Amino acid sequence: MKKSCDNVRTSPFSHIWIQTQQAIPMWNILGEQDYKDSPVKIALFAHWDTRPSADQEQDPDRRSQPIPGANDGASGVAVLLELMKEMKGKHPGVGILFVMIDGEDLGPGEDEMYLGAVHFAKNLPTPKPQYGILLDMIGGKNLRVPKEVNSAYGAPLLTKLLFTHAARIGLSSTFPNAEGMVIDDDHLPFIRAGVPTVDLIDLTYPQWHTLSDTPEHCSPKSLESVGILLKSWLTSPDATTATGK
Ligand SMILES: [Zn+2]
Repeated sequence: MKKSCDNVRTSPFSHIWIQTQQAIPMWNILGEQDYKDSPVKIALFAHWDTRPSADQEQDPDRRSQPIPGANDGASGVAVLLELMKEMKGKHPGVGILFVMIDGEDLGPGEDEMYLGAVHFAKNLPTPKPQYGILLDMIGGKNLRVPKEVNSAYGAPLLTKLLFTHAARIGLSSTFPNAEGMVIDDDHLPFIRAGVPTVDLIDLTYPQWHTLSDTPEHCSPKSLESVGILLKSWLTSPDATTATGK
């Protein structure tokens, strides 16, 4: 991130895990591109932690092992790392805050998930981003990312414009203008903190929370589609229009 961004920093926090009664040190990682100087400020999020327990494994004896997280974690990070390289020096007229989030998938219960998102929401940077785009599990084969329902309610203008934009650049088969699932994810703390955020996610991934969440079940084409959408969005007037009500 230091090669592509300015002001790269960590934002540490810790959590006492119910399972071990030990404090786990964690940290979000943030980097900026033209962030402070641009009137329009956009946050791009992905979680970089991976789940410590493969609770969807068939064999109960294997459920205590951590998942590799090629899709559930690494896919969003991979797209953001490549995107920041692509956007370096481009000065698209909007400021970008790249945020790699820790503690999304600690769990196993939802009361111990989204920890880095909650930490970010409680410690919003100043100035705060006007909206956010979250990537999660966007690396699976035959990627299909419809409009996640909490996003459509919590960030209606952004969601509408982003999916219209995807259709305009020929990506409507990957990002169909259709209602998807209702998903609890890192975007909910951001929305509650006043940063409307759309969650781009495809939860129809057979290897979800198993030890088989590995690169051979992912597709470079899927990562590319998401990267193309974000790059096109950031360099279009829609990125600014989406800050409206
Ligand atoms: Zn997960």
